[in-house]
Amino acid sequence: AFDASYVKSVIRALPDWPEPGVTFRDITPIFKDPKALRTVTDGFIERYVTSDITHIASIDARGFLVSAILAHQLNKPLILVRKKGKLPGDTISQSYDLEYGSATLEVQTDACGPGDKVLIFDDLIATGGTLIAACSLVQRLGGSVSEVASIIDLPGLQGSQRLQDSGVSVFSLIAY
Ligand code: IMP
Repeated sequence: AFDASYVKSVIRALPDWPEPGVTFRDITPIFKDPKALRTVTDGFIERYVTSDITHIASIDARGFLVSAILAHQLNKPLILVRKKGKLPGDTISQSYDLEYGSATLEVQTDACGPGDKVLIFDDLIATGGTLIAACSLVQRLGGSVSEVASIIDLPGLQGSQRLQDSGVSVFSLIAY
């Protein structure tokens, strides 16, 4: 079974970063601890090994680290959803609001298409804006979103609820 308390013992909370009043959940210690990284990746592999997902889409940049392992272990194609201006070739973009200003995500137009069942992965769900934009990109290419997954959910910020309200299934290993 997934050992949430072990992974929680590794994740660091940084008070007042990147600004006063915000507690940043730092997952970088997971990557310094092979047992923690294996616990996290095994938690996702256990869930998706018997699923019918056809692709894994991952979010720039911390999302890439875990999803590349999942794509390898589950033998699925990996789609990179990147911040604006990073991907070569034909792309579509989706902007979304941040607390101050906005951000834009992009995906290559040949990343997926009709009939594809996509798992979208990011490290953490806060307001949900990032993953909602990523869902739009996949859906605009004709793919369907099987589920969105994260290591951490911050349910107090309502992001996972927003995703569920938009009709998307959500799976997270840990909540704070
Ligand atoms: P959202 O779009 O508000 O859900 O924010 C999620 C995005 O912001 C993810 O791509 C995260 O990597 C990043 N993020 C927000 N808060 C944290 C945090 O406390 N720790 C790590 N990443 C965070």
